[in-house]
Amino acid sequence: MKTLKIAIQKSGRLNEKSVEILKNCGLSFENYKSSLISTVQNFPLEILFLRDDDIPEYVQDGIADLGIVGENVITETKAGVEYLQRLGFGKCTLKIAVQTGSEIQKLEDLNGKAIATSYPVILEKFLTEKGIKSDIRTISGSVEIGPGLGLSDAIFDIVSTGGTLKSNGLKPFADVMQSEAVLIGNKSILDNPEVAELLQRIRSVLSAKS
Ligand code: ATP
Ligand code: ZN
Repeated sequence: MKTLKIAIQKSGRLNEKSVEILKNCGLSFENYKSSLISTVQNFPLEILFLRDDDIPEYVQDGIADLGIVGENVITETKAGVEYLQRLGFGKCTLKIAVQTGSEIQKLEDLNGKAIATSYPVILEKFLTEKGIKSDIRTISGSVEIGPGLGLSDAIFDIVSTGGTLKSNGLKPFADVMQSEAVLIGNKSILDNPEVAELLQRIRSVLSAKS
């Protein structure tokens, strides 16, 4: 029997719920923060703890068979993976935001404007669909400070409460994508019986909750 590997986030917003759902499936494993791999004692499974950004490609390339990651990251990395199950946590919305009092009032006003983001692929797709040409400036974090510093006219980022936007003089302008954590799988493992068993357990845990 082949030991499956599932990749989950090592630390961050998805880590705790990812561990919880696996434990609720009856899997027993040590959740050492310092170790990158944990072996499940009562199921042929190893858990890899990774940065979320790396998970879609690891699953696409078969280094991990399964993974738990936000849809935003899957779309952004353009990884070729199977969506097996939405997991109902890690929910967020990716939005374009502009400065309060900005002259940008409707989508077309973004033509020729600079938008700072860590999600250039998702943003580009949205703008292309709307027939808008903006100058997408890719930066790796703290995109909210861009407009205040004159680095960009707008931003595109994950927004939850809007508090960070507000404290940087920004307001939501357009919703682009809803995201939640999903279970993904490598395309070659879909008829594996252990995967089917695990998927069934995850679905029972989810339906017991709702
Ligand atoms: P890593 O160190 O693994 O790269 P990270 O800093 O990129 O972590 P987190 O901030 O932990 O990532 O977010 C992980 C995922 O949680 C996001 O990609 C998104 O799918 C989801 N998420 C849900 N709510 C939020 C939120 N308010 N802000 C950011 N991400 C959120
Ligand atoms: Zn990340």
